[in-house]
Amino acid sequence: MPPIRVVAIPTEVAETVRATLRAPIYGFPAHAELATDDAPCRHCLRTIVANQDRRILFTYDRFAGVESLPQPGPIYVHADSCPRYTEDAGFPEELRGSPRTLEAYSRGRRLVAQEYVADGKFEPAIEKLLALSNVDYLQVNSTTAGCFTFRITRAELK
Ligand SMILES: [Zn+2]
Repeated sequence: MPPIRVVAIPTEVAETVRATLRAPIYGFPAHAELATDDAPCRHCLRTIVANQDRRILFTYDRFAGVESLPQPGPIYVHADSCPRYTEDAGFPEELRGSPRTLEAYSRGRRLVAQEYVADGKFEPAIEKLLALSNVDYLQVNSTTAGCFTFRITRAELK
């Protein structure tokens, strides 16, 4: 598979939410609590473990930084500081076991194609979608909950 970038939310966003308990841009109150079920942190892309980790739920524009047309929705981060997922580390292993929808977009937020992956074999689907010449990036969402998880782009050649 050609190299990809796995793009978690910016550290600045996670830190701002932790410090203010408000959603960036929107200002809506964020909700901090002990996790009641397992869910991925959108900053470190690891599992927020139920009955063990604290989490913050807040409103986030899943197209922030790539499109002018927003699409806000709820996401979680760890309530405590965590390291941002390394962009060149490949598909996050902790997320492989849950069904994800890969949405392939061209600029202008135009949905070109999508793939539902439930068997953990994400790389063939990613490769197939990024091979489409009119696809600029992929949005990865939870298939069961619908929430935004992270973005994938082609890695720039250096
Ligand atoms: Zn985290």
